[in-house]
Amino acid sequence: KSKEMSGSYFHFFKSEMNNRNLESIYIENSLYKALDLDEMVIYYQPQIDGRTHAITGAEALLRWNHSKLGMISPVDFIPLAEETGLIIPIGKWVLENACKQLKQWKMDGHDQLTMSVNLSGRQFEEADLVPMIEETLESLELEPSCLHIELTENQIVRNTKVAIEKMKQLKKLGVKISIDDFGTGYSSLGYLKDFPLDTLKIDRSFIMDVTENAADAAITNTIITLAQNLNLNVVAEGVETAEQLAFLLSKDCRTMQGFYFSRPIEAAALEEKYLSKK
Ligand code: C2E
Ligand code: MG
Ligand code: MG
Ligand code: MG
Repeated sequence: KSKEMSGSYFHFFKSEMNNRNLESIYIENSLYKALDLDEMVIYYQPQIDGRTHAITGAEALLRWNHSKLGMISPVDFIPLAEETGLIIPIGKWVLENACKQLKQWKMDGHDQLTMSVNLSGRQFEEADLVPMIEETLESLELEPSCLHIELTENQIVRNTKVAIEKMKQLKKLGVKISIDDFGTGYSSLGYLKDFPLDTLKIDRSFIMDVTENAADAAITNTIITLAQNLNLNVVAEGVETAEQLAFLLSKDCRTMQGFYFSRPIEAAALEEKYLSKK
């Protein structure tokens, strides 16, 4: 009889909570502990001047080094961090640590470098985002213009009025603003004249086939021209081949990021590859 009971309980349990749910409950619980357990790691992907191959800055890209599951990609846990609100402490941790790393590199003599940090929608809407950034920069005595905040189009058009206000505060502080994954959002181009932007980052999906696909080439070329005409900087994401690099240089897009130069790597590896002691 007890066997039967446990059997029916099991069936109930199985139908109500499938494996996926159990797994996500487990992951959610461990995400709560991740910062305390020191499981978050920032990788850095160099941003390169395609003409000289010199490093101009880096993008901070978060990874979660889970004790049982190994390295987890941000695409797999940022949405959960957003849902649970954990993105607020985690995002603060990323910002502080990326800025500390930049300060270290500047003190090592690499004063030209910038640091790009991705913000999620929820972080961007958080009331004390701007004071938090200001405090971080002040306590490290970092020049605000070396911090580049990356936002996506969808984030900023979600609540346009609030977004413009936030961006103005960031600009006043002296921080630079980049539009990430440019060209993939569901927004009109009109917002470009209302937002105080500094940089457009051409989405990797256009760069991928830029040398084989005429439409991708046309879109990429148009984004570069658009940026130039609006007096914005332009960065190409996801450059993987010498041909893509050559194409971009021929269109006067100088700054790029991609596996052709380097994958996102740990700070020490980036130092070894790009930052010889000065
Ligand atoms: P993203 O900001 O657009 O970052 C660029 C992504 O493209 C990175 O993926 C990077 O590893 C990848 N990538 C760069 N160059 C190449 C290339 O040549 N080929 C290919 N195939 N991929 C390339 P990653 O590190 O997995 O990050 C994915 C996304 O997760 C980021 O996209 C960003 O939206 C988000 N993310 C990462 N770190 C953070 C963070 O600290 N906070 C927030 N809110 N989001 C983050
Ligand atoms: Mg980014
Ligand atoms: Mg991107
Ligand atoms: Mg170091």
